[in-house]
Amino acid sequence: MKITIVGTGYVGLVTGTCLAEVGHHVTCVDLDEKKVAMLCDGRSPIFEPGLEKYIRNNIAHGRISFTTNLEEALVDSTAAFIAVGTPEGEDGSADLSYVLAVAKSIGELSKTPALVIVKSTVPVGTCDLVEQEIKAALDRRNSTLKIPVASNPEFLKEGAAIDDFMKPDRIVVGLVNNTGKEVIEEIYKPFVTDDPSKLFIIDRRSSELTKYGSNAMLATRISFMNELSRLCERVGANIDYVRLGMGSDPRIGKKFLYAGPGYGGSCFPKDVEALIKSGEKHGEELLVLNSVSQANRNQKDFVSKKITRHFGDLTGKKIAVWGLAFKPGTDDVRETPSKTIIKHLLDSGASVVAHDPEAVETFVKEFGEHNGLSYSQDAYEAIQGANAVVLVTEWPEYKRPNWEKVAASLSEKVVFDFRNQYDSKTLIGKGFHYECIGRPDSVVRT
Ligand code: NAD
Repeated sequence: MKITIVGTGYVGLVTGTCLAEVGHHVTCVDLDEKKVAMLCDGRSPIFEPGLEKYIRNNIAHGRISFTTNLEEALVDSTAAFIAVGTPEGEDGSADLSYVLAVAKSIGELSKTPALVIVKSTVPVGTCDLVEQEIKAALDRRNSTLKIPVASNPEFLKEGAAIDDFMKPDRIVVGLVNNTGKEVIEEIYKPFVTDDPSKLFIIDRRSSELTKYGSNAMLATRISFMNELSRLCERVGANIDYVRLGMGSDPRIGKKFLYAGPGYGGSCFPKDVEALIKSGEKHGEELLVLNSVSQANRNQKDFVSKKITRHFGDLTGKKIAVWGLAFKPGTDDVRETPSKTIIKHLLDSGASVVAHDPEAVETFVKEFGEHNGLSYSQDAYEAIQGANAVVLVTEWPEYKRPNWEKVAASLSEKVVFDFRNQYDSKTLIGKGFHYECIGRPDSVVRT
């Protein structure tokens, strides 16, 4: 099947590449000429494990191509995915301008009736707007083409995106009167051969809301555990034991129960805000989610203040930060906790040396240049002469540091572990001042 993908970011590029991998003929379209040039060259503009290899393989087999020309891409396409960004607007609601601009272009440029599939995360009712935008553009050129619209939210996780797409837990599709069902089944058949019931075909509004519901539920678990970890610090309990005890209940499950510096990334923060706004728009106040969002902001401040509390005055201190990406396995730094922490340190008069195996370039782009902030290519070089090291992202290379080397490199033996990666007893035994989250033996009481 010939398929167009509009938007070659994390979602569009992974979708296009995986669809090509199972034999579809995919054309990926992006406005960004630099990205398209890199992709034509077989280079991935984003870091996602395994992705570049898949891109090259499919270019070599003639199953994937990249262009800035939407009109050419749409020729004879049976389906056109919209996978552009839906960033947080000024009032917290999803900014739909990119999605609607693509819809308008599809209405203006289509010559054949492809099924339009909205993969971007969009609030309930957006597919109706996409349909209206396409129809208005078709009407303006007196076209009688019928272009149906489907909702098909994406559930991949950055860092494991290829695996998630190739072996999905579920594929959710929303259709009106089952229009486009055969096309959807043809696209996704290779991904559900083991269990066809993983393809859920439901109504469009339920499909749109399923995505927000899922992300908001995961964000809720994180904020809940973060608050519980703070209570642990007050009462002398250990969040690790609490987590293990809670997670062994199959009704709760083990995942997404880790306390940390607050959730970040391109999805949870903006999707929680957008769902709150959808609730407001439709007259339903989402009290739980309002608190989830507030608790997350509090957590980022809470961990930042642990550093200030230890030093009293941060003026003139040099702090090393290990990890800039919002989680390991990606170079995505959107809403990453390290941004809040680094801003707090710089505002308090400290200088910061940051290290990340993949995300320095994206962080510089997102955060800009700041006095007092520098970057190092090497994790140990970053801590040289620093008063403390702060672990923010649990990349594998930070998991088992050489503590003798760390002690010799730091000017003070101080470690803040905001991912609870290290063993308190070991660190304290080696003479470090060690603080983490929600474990009693490393808590400094005020
Ligand atoms: P992104 O910002 O990485 O990529 C969006 C791409 O769209 C960019 O390359 C941009 O140049 C391109 N673009 C914008 N307007 C265009 C146009 N008119 N024509 C062609 N290209 C255009 O975004 P992303 O992270 O891939 O997210 C895309 C959507 O998927 C969002 O709605 C997001 O919420 C959702 N989503 C993201 C993830 C994730 O982990 N990143 C997971 C699930 C869902």
